[in-house]
Amino acid sequence: MAQMTDLVRSGHFFRARGTSWPLTRRARRLAALTLLLVLGWAVLVQGGGWLATRYIQETVPQGESILRLAVSGLRGELARHERLPDLMAHAPVLSAALREDATQADIAGANLYLRYVTRLMGLSDAYVMGRDGTTVAASNFDQDFSFVGKNFEYRPYFRDALSGGQGRFFALGTTSGKRGYYFGAPVRERGRTLGVLALKVDVDAIEDSWRAAEYEMIVTDSEGIVFLASRRDWQFRSLAPLTREARARVAATRRYDGAPLEMLPLQRAGMVGGHQLLRLEMNGARREFVSISEVMPKAGWTVQVLLDTAPARRQALTASVAALLIVGAVLAALMAWMQRRARLRERLSIQAEAQAQLEGRVAARTAELAQLNARLGAEVTERRATEAELRRTQRHLVQSAKLAALGQMSAALSHELNQPLGAVRNFAANALTYIDRERVADARQNITRILSLADRMSETGRTLRNFARKPNAQLSDVDLHDVLRDALEVIAWRIGKRELALELDLPPGPLMVRAGPVRFQQVIVNLLSNALDALEGRPDAKIRIMAEATPQRIVLTVADNGPGIPEGLDDRIFDPFFSTKGVGSGLGLGLSISFNIIKDFGGELRLVRRPGGACFQIDLPRLGGPA
Ligand code: ADP
Repeated sequence: MAQMTDLVRSGHFFRARGTSWPLTRRARRLAALTLLLVLGWAVLVQGGGWLATRYIQETVPQGESILRLAVSGLRGELARHERLPDLMAHAPVLSAALREDATQADIAGANLYLRYVTRLMGLSDAYVMGRDGTTVAASNFDQDFSFVGKNFEYRPYFRDALSGGQGRFFALGTTSGKRGYYFGAPVRERGRTLGVLALKVDVDAIEDSWRAAEYEMIVTDSEGIVFLASRRDWQFRSLAPLTREARARVAATRRYDGAPLEMLPLQRAGMVGGHQLLRLEMNGARREFVSISEVMPKAGWTVQVLLDTAPARRQALTASVAALLIVGAVLAALMAWMQRRARLRERLSIQAEAQAQLEGRVAARTAELAQLNARLGAEVTERRATEAELRRTQRHLVQSAKLAALGQMSAALSHELNQPLGAVRNFAANALTYIDRERVADARQNITRILSLADRMSETGRTLRNFARKPNAQLSDVDLHDVLRDALEVIAWRIGKRELALELDLPPGPLMVRAGPVRFQQVIVNLLSNALDALEGRPDAKIRIMAEATPQRIVLTVADNGPGIPEGLDDRIFDPFFSTKGVGSGLGLGLSISFNIIKDFGGELRLVRRPGGACFQIDLPRLGGPA
């Protein structure tokens, strides 16, 4: 686990993946940027175009109502004066002025009448012409540019009226230089046409009402020449190139009185909702319009409203920029969200990987442990089997040892008993012979020997009985001093005949132990007789008996300066029947019995290794000391 966290912390995981990451991230960014650009383009150009079309279309109804107003205004203006020429033509003052014998007074009367009506009706001019087209009387008779004397024979309204119809004509005044709409009516007297009355209606006022920022208004005649326009510089320009015939027609009627009639640089630029889109490049400025038009058949005019598309396009641009910003913001939010999600997914996958590795390690470790466990189990089983085998072997060994001991004992016993028995048999046979020959003294000696041998055999039997002792039987509190004194008395017969230094070193005061006094004494006698055996034939023989007492224990040491116990025999000397002494001298039971007796007293008999002789210690719990 610790290793894993270290790995993560040191960034190994990240570095390992780092080789492939930046590439894909760069590619993703590039793709996102491209998508953004495409979207931006789509929103700005496509969406903007679509929006512009929609906004332009929305302006159409407004244009239509403007157009309706303009057309009805024009119609009203014309209708207002339509009947007037006929009405005035019947005035006698006019026919009087047109008569061939007309007087100056008649002319003056007509002049005044015409001026009166002009002022009354708000006309531009009113005048009467003779049959040749020369003006006889006019409302502007007293002005500098008076029509009186001028000939208008070429004007269509004159010709129409003279031939009995109603003359209507739009033209630029040749004398006044002002545009106007001309109405003509014949002046008759008794069925004879004397001349023509003409009224000119000013159109400047109409044009003035059209000046607005959002649209332009033009009225074209049947030749396609603009004669009314919201902009002065558009006047007297044609919408299409004029044919030679058309130019000739215009020249014949002097309608525009020598105006150059250039083309208005309006170009078609497509359609919006069934209406023409027109583009105009003039004086360095570029404008675009939607054209809505209506024909006035009676007058032969076409009225056009040109709606400027700039506000609609501006609105569309603003809306599409706003949409682009919104789309951009949404995209940015989406990308941020996606990036967050990607990062989260990455983190989760790293964690999962770490977890998987960890789990893998745990599984491996668990498997190892399970294997180890199984091995240990097998070892335990094996060990148990070995132990059982060992115990079995031990049992067998003990059995064999017992049998061996039994065999050894039988051999020793038969040896111990057979020898004296043989001797007894010989001595008895010889004694009989001595008795037959009456050698009583010899016979007695033999019998004495037999008795002695019998004693020895019974001694062997008594010694063997010790093995059948009852442990802990007849234990009492004894003083070591007393036991030692009795033992020395028993052995005194062996010490007495020898040169031997016997050292006794006992602390004063009672040295109380719990023991069987006779058996304790037997042990000490045994140790002393072994020492005496070992010192046999030594000139400086020495035995040292020493007791050491602590509050808890009493240790009695019996040491001699004999040959000591050979190396490797430390344990064996306490075995039953182990003896280095020749047959007949030792049974090899002394130390074995002594060891068991001291054990019964709760103590220990041990051999202590010391240079220059053998040393045995009896270690017993001291009575009266702390438990
Ligand atoms: P035994 O005296 O009948 O041989 P023991 O059990 O008393 O039997 O002694 C066993 C053996 O231990 C002896 O044969 C002897 O070799 C050795 N041994 C005992 N005491 C001494 C001693 N003080 N010095 C040397 N050897 C000893």
